[in-house]
Amino acid sequence: MTSAFGLPILWAVFLAALVTALATGLGAVPFAFIRRLSPRGAAAANATAAGLMLGASLGLLAEGVHHSPSRTFVGAALGIGFILITQRLLGHHEPEIGQLTGVNARRALLFLVVMTVHSFAEGVAVGVSFGGGESLGLAITLALAIHNIPEGLAITAVMRPRGISLWTCAFWSVFSSLPQPLMAVPAFLLVDRVRPALPFGLGFAAGAMVYMVLIEILPEAYDAAESRTIALLVGGTTVIMLLFQQYL
Ligand SMILES: [Zn+2]
Repeated sequence: MTSAFGLPILWAVFLAALVTALATGLGAVPFAFIRRLSPRGAAAANATAAGLMLGASLGLLAEGVHHSPSRTFVGAALGIGFILITQRLLGHHEPEIGQLTGVNARRALLFLVVMTVHSFAEGVAVGVSFGGGESLGLAITLALAIHNIPEGLAITAVMRPRGISLWTCAFWSVFSSLPQPLMAVPAFLLVDRVRPALPFGLGFAAGAMVYMVLIEILPEAYDAAESRTIALLVGGTTVIMLLFQQYL
């Protein structure tokens, strides 16, 4: 089976997920021009990332329900459970954006671990979305690639004040997203070979991402900036993402 670009579909899935991972490194670029990021700037960036993630998740849910509402629901519950368990294992250390630049090295490392673990769900999202069709796959890939940029920005905001070079910050940003290309191919293979697993997979990725947005990203964003700004950014990017998937 080949993709629209003439590539074998497995390579297309891998490359798509690799592009999303590399996009995380772009988050380091603004630090070539600025020394540090204001908490409000970081909150706005994360609210944008959250909206893109919500829009992508709603697209995955819609596709899942199209195949099987009950299996999508069970998958979403499993996705939420996955995040609950990883948070328990990691000791639930949400980084507070407002204090990102002042955190100690241990918390900076934990932040990197949290970002890396949550990328697993996003890798599954890329893989299963291609299982739901190439246009869905490309829409989710683009959403997650753009969403990764503010994540790289947040990681760099934590590391850069410690005197870590810009290239090293970019490296760790990309590193935090490496689970995406690693997870995308097996996730795609599973839902492609075992078709009944597709709605489970779509639900799983959506459930995990929505729960992550609600428990980790949004509370901190609301803490660090004006509620109205955050609500408008999240709502606006969610709607844009949904419209974009509609017309792709
Ligand atoms: Zn993410």
